[in-house]
Amino acid sequence: MDLKQFVTVVPDYPKPGIQFKDITTLMDNGEAYKYATDQIVAYAREKQIDLVVGPEARGFIIGCPVAYSLGVGFAPVRKEGKLPREVVRVEYGLEYGKDVLTIHKDAIKPGQRVLITDDLLATGGTIEATIKLVEELGGVVAGIAFLIELSYLNGRRLLDGYDVLTLMKF
Ligand code: IMP
Repeated sequence: MDLKQFVTVVPDYPKPGIQFKDITTLMDNGEAYKYATDQIVAYAREKQIDLVVGPEARGFIIGCPVAYSLGVGFAPVRKEGKLPREVVRVEYGLEYGKDVLTIHKDAIKPGQRVLITDDLLATGGTIEATIKLVEELGGVVAGIAFLIELSYLNGRRLLDGYDVLTLMKF
């Protein structure tokens, strides 16, 4: 299946010059969403994944059906102040300023093989921060899966040495 036909490119969103990749038109098509999920599930089976981890909010949309299908757990990575118990945190750079991501301290058992999921790899900052959280808790990043990679932003350079699956490249 050619998944790109289900992605809507929105010009000048959220600001002039950005070609936003809207995946809601992929998700609301049952066949396309299932096909994309099944590709990632097959990849995760090869990597013998114990747990799926994804950053809010679109990392949940990709990761949760994969975890359900594998019969493994899902641990959310969230912005600061959203998780109710003890967390570990990491600061990461944005184009302007900084942001913080957190994960519950007991979300991962040391040695667990983790699949990280998100909708889209842009500069790689979000996933680099997520990797740090997983590794700080002793998890092994056994694979990273995205629907979309924006190749021209070269986020891959931050993921050297990790196994990465992307279903579409723009
Ligand atoms: P990065 O940290 O620069 O790799 O940005 C990736 C994050 O920004 C992901 O969590 C995406 O959800 C979001 N993002 C960036 N550009 C787009 C886009 O064109 N469509 C959808 N999400 C985007």
